Amino acid sequence: MKAMVLEKTGQALQLVQRPAPLPDAGQVQVKVSACGVCRTDLHVVDGDLSEARLPIIPGHEIVGTISLLGEGVDNFQVGERVGIPWLGYSCGCCRYCESGAENLCDEPGFTGYQIDGGYAEFTVADARFCFALPGSQSDAESAPWLCAGLIGYRSLMMTGEDCQRLGIYGFGAAAHIVAQIARYQQREVYAFTSPGDIAAQKFALEMGASWAGDSDRAAPCELDAAIIFAPVGHLIPAALRAVRKGGIVVCGGIHMSDIPSFPYHILWGERVIRSVANLTRQDAQEFLELAPLIPLKTRIKEFPLEQANEALHALRSGKLTGAAVLRP
Ligand SMILES: [Zn+2]
Ligand SMILES: [Zn+2]
Repeated sequence: MKAMVLEKTGQALQLVQRPAPLPDAGQVQVKVSACGVCRTDLHVVDGDLSEARLPIIPGHEIVGTISLLGEGVDNFQVGERVGIPWLGYSCGCCRYCESGAENLCDEPGFTGYQIDGGYAEFTVADARFCFALPGSQSDAESAPWLCAGLIGYRSLMMTGEDCQRLGIYGFGAAAHIVAQIARYQQREVYAFTSPGDIAAQKFALEMGASWAGDSDRAAPCELDAAIIFAPVGHLIPAALRAVRKGGIVVCGGIHMSDIPSFPYHILWGERVIRSVANLTRQDAQEFLELAPLIPLKTRIKEFPLEQANEALHALRSGKLTGAAVLRP
């Protein structure tokens, strides 16, 4: 099979030919038809995240069909369409797994980070962490659901039940999915983009935002909560200033630049800052039930697998509207 491999952080991915991986007991082999490109992949390639098992095939927004079943797999059949997310494995016995917080597992395995991912023609995955994919969206359009969608959904749930006015900082793949869910739940969306990014502001308005503007401007009204998807630490004080007393600022990214110091009074009033880490299978089940009801639509730009480096570059440059998806 063809695969794009990260041999060393800080370097471009290499196109290699290698035998397709075979499933061990409990695993499935999946013929990949689409794999989304997530900002986390950039952090893995750049070495911002330091626990990659190198060499690694990145990619954790995988859609494909089951091509082989490992011993003991009885929850899927060959030919079934599945999605494979970032959480590739959790231990099942640490204090976090036992309390329903497998996203915080002490011994996790992440797809495209410690476990070879979807920048390839085939991959293998633990069958317990794969999901049947509903809906009539194409494989490529569904790929961003597997991380941008799931992490976005978890981030939105962390803003609380009574979040009517939601701010979103950074309007890319995750934000455009969250905006659709929020609108479906009758919340108002206020989108903050890099100053002057008119294309992203237009995109946000098309996705149902009530307002879109530059992140260095004040919010047009007091917000109940905000989600920050851009990996930019100085947005945390900006978002804190925008939310009301008791408001929650959720950091949805896995990595962020340093947070500048800020005066205590913008946190005062029981405002909350929290991060969202990874996902649970429960999040995935809820999200996958919700997505076809909305019905969720994703804006994508397709790249051939061999152009994974170009896709990563496009994401880095901030010129993408929506999500990049690789097609083997
Ligand atoms: Zn665990
Ligand atoms: Zn991701």
